Amino acid sequence: MLTAKEIRDSFKEFFKSKGHVIVPSAPMVIKDDPTLMFTNAGMNQFKDIIFGNKAARNTRVADSQKCLRVSGKHNDLEEVGMDTYHHTMFEMLGNWSFGDYFKEEAIDWAWEYLVDVLGLDPNRLYATVFEGYAPEGLTRDDEAAHIWEKHLPVDHIINGNKHDNFWEMGDTGPCGPCSEIHIDLRSDEERAAIPGAELVNKDNPQVIEIWNLVFMQYNRKADGSLEPLPARVIDTGMGFERLCMALQGKKSNYDTDVFTPLINKIADLSGKKYGEDHKVDIAMRVIADHVRTIAFSIADSQLPGNAKAGYVIRRILRRAVRYAYTFLGQKEAFMYRLVDTLIASMGEAYPELPAQRELIMKVIKEEEDAFLRTLDKGIAMLEGAIASARKAGKTEISGKEAFTLYDTYGFPLDLTELILKENGMTMDQDGFDVEMQAQKTRARNAAAVEATDWVVVNELPDQEFVGYDKTEAETQIARYRHVKQKNREYYQVILGVTPFYAEMGGQVGDRGYLEDTATGERIEIYDTKRENGIGVHLVAKMPANPASTFRAVIDTEARNATAANHTATHLLHQALREVLGTHVEQRGSFVSPEILRFDFSHFQKVTPEELRRVERLANKRVRMAIARDEHRNVPIERARELGAMALFGEKYGDEVRVIRYGDSIELCGGTHVENTGNIGMIKILSESSIASGIRRIEAVTGARVEDMIDEATDTVHQISAMFNNAPNVLQALRKAIDENAALKKEIQEAMLERANALTATLIEKSTVINGMRLVSLGGIRVPDMVKTIAMNVRRDSPEKTIFVATTKDNAGKPLITVALTDDLVATGMNAAALARSGAKAIKGGGGGQPGFAQAGGKDAEGLSAAYDIIIDELKKH
Ligand code: ATP
Ligand code: MG
Repeated sequence: MLTAKEIRDSFKEFFKSKGHVIVPSAPMVIKDDPTLMFTNAGMNQFKDIIFGNKAARNTRVADSQKCLRVSGKHNDLEEVGMDTYHHTMFEMLGNWSFGDYFKEEAIDWAWEYLVDVLGLDPNRLYATVFEGYAPEGLTRDDEAAHIWEKHLPVDHIINGNKHDNFWEMGDTGPCGPCSEIHIDLRSDEERAAIPGAELVNKDNPQVIEIWNLVFMQYNRKADGSLEPLPARVIDTGMGFERLCMALQGKKSNYDTDVFTPLINKIADLSGKKYGEDHKVDIAMRVIADHVRTIAFSIADSQLPGNAKAGYVIRRILRRAVRYAYTFLGQKEAFMYRLVDTLIASMGEAYPELPAQRELIMKVIKEEEDAFLRTLDKGIAMLEGAIASARKAGKTEISGKEAFTLYDTYGFPLDLTELILKENGMTMDQDGFDVEMQAQKTRARNAAAVEATDWVVVNELPDQEFVGYDKTEAETQIARYRHVKQKNREYYQVILGVTPFYAEMGGQVGDRGYLEDTATGERIEIYDTKRENGIGVHLVAKMPANPASTFRAVIDTEARNATAANHTATHLLHQALREVLGTHVEQRGSFVSPEILRFDFSHFQKVTPEELRRVERLANKRVRMAIARDEHRNVPIERARELGAMALFGEKYGDEVRVIRYGDSIELCGGTHVENTGNIGMIKILSESSIASGIRRIEAVTGARVEDMIDEATDTVHQISAMFNNAPNVLQALRKAIDENAALKKEIQEAMLERANALTATLIEKSTVINGMRLVSLGGIRVPDMVKTIAMNVRRDSPEKTIFVATTKDNAGKPLITVALTDDLVATGMNAAALARSGAKAIKGGGGGQPGFAQAGGKDAEGLSAAYDIIIDELKKH
């Protein structure tokens, strides 16, 4: 029996023998594409080639790609664990032709590989072909069907509709028919009873799709019409785990050697057995699946977080914790203990896992711990909601309560339902759906983007970026389009030649302007983004004559400040490793003209002394004015030889750029200063934790440091001036603080004395009402003193006494204070109720204890009315 590893290798071997270049998997987490958070298919990393933005270096490539299908167009999350053949993360084996071979070879080779090389039984295989779609004038893909007839009897070739057999990446762009290969894994008897053809695409777990061959031959325009694609593309994707299942004679992906080590370990740790209880089995599958996703995304530098991709990962982790909690009885962190098992089986193929073992385990454990605490809190809240619903005689909690638990506290809905059921309660599902819908609409409106077709102005070769060497360039507009997003409207402009750096690797995009060389008209470029591998310039309005020739000029001041900040991150990185150790690795960065942020792995707070040392080391190198040593278009192996830190997840075909300042050697596409002296100086502003095991430094450079120093010295001068420029300001300040404290104490003592004297007078002047003694106080009083008097009255006249104060403080804010002696409280009288009854008259509210209560308000004019109300209330007793 072939092992998973052998199967993966055989795929690559086979396509290599057919002239394909084997490329590495791109990262699973996508950093620089606003339209996609995670790689969800093998073709993602070739999008720029497929869109025609970049020429293909090789027209035949093949790979095994880590994919994640948990958001957007492909979201299989809810299936995972329930069935046995959908995963969140899986490997997709694929082969591509960019304007090279087309349907015939794609089909013949797929067949040859499955049947001749791997020995799958041809009788179990089925192929689907696109049946056509009349409204768009598309006919059946007879071409593909005829090729399949070379290999399969016609009753194994099945027509499929537009939904299943016409592949589109989005609303516009390359698309075309596809053919899927399905396999029937059922027993001979079952197959004799019902032919497999009837079960294709019917969600039968034993008759499943394993490979999809996409034939891109059209381009869809914004008006929905199709035009032929000049360079046709073959794009195939085969589920690796499903292929392993078929070849290893298993009925479930989880029974293959890809998953059994994990399932066994989960069984070990939880003391439960796989295959005995349906719910336990689901939980084990969920956990085995999700731990892979989480570990791989952390290795790709995507930590669980509160927004975007980080939030998706956090939700997946919580889903697993919740299954472990409910069905495996795991009340303590548990998943992090599976990381070693995962590394043992996948670490060789994916070295980023063992390299970051410690971080992966630590992050998972802390997330688990945090969520388990939330679970406890959520359960307490839910119990509160159940109790108050019961009190109100209801057996249902509101949809809003359930939604708040779900949305704000990340409390899983099915757990809410389970706990409710255990308590004989339900929730208002309709109410919940309304809340959910409202939230989805909010999210959709925020994300909706409407773009027109590209308007081609000049037919130009691929965009050329000249911004490493130049700050301006003569250029022409290749194409542009109008974009509407939320309340924003703008144009995206693609230039033939551009000096504008497009936002990437944490460095913000350049801004500047376009100047028509004929008319002098200037158009501001306010940002530059990267989409599908090229720079897209954003402008609010188009120039009058887009076909003209332009000067594209960047804002050099902003660019230089950005470059200084970017180079500073390299020097800080280097210094951090020297001071803290080589476990420090970059985890993210943000570089703008104003500030730099640098995130790195480190397990505890960086002490102020360490920070100082880091800063000093980096600044020493600034003063050394070390020249930039730049190597462009270096193959990744050469970069390693140069000593650049091993970086994972470089994309296929990316020749890297190496930036070196002395011993600081980094792979980086950003813009950098000519020599480190241009930075001027680096000043660290703050150091903090942004996630478990990840710290963040914020710093400024150059003129910003000057601003900071100026501000700080100004402040000191102002303080000094307040103390008449005393020679030792610190001492003067200390003295003032001490004096202030002593004065405060004196005032308090004096106040106490006065309060005591006043209490005696007030008691003397008290009146009697309904057989109770009434002590009243008005006027302008410090609130603290009123409280003291109230307590004094209770102490000095402990029987049947009421104290009512209607006072203003120095700022004129009204205050009602009511105190009752304990014997009155025992009869059921309540100071809080009395204070509240008066509070309306001063437009306020408040509360307190039955023996003492206060209410503040906004309208001091109402104080005497408030007093009258309270007295009337007292008369009722
Ligand atoms: P299905 O209908 O089974 O969900 P799909 O139509 O979504 O599959 P494609 O987008 O064509 O699949 O992906 C290509 C191949 O990747 C599929 O033939 C299948 O073998 C595999 N695949 C797709 N989704 C998953 C998943 N969630 N887990 C594991 N393998 C998958
Ligand atoms: Mg699917």
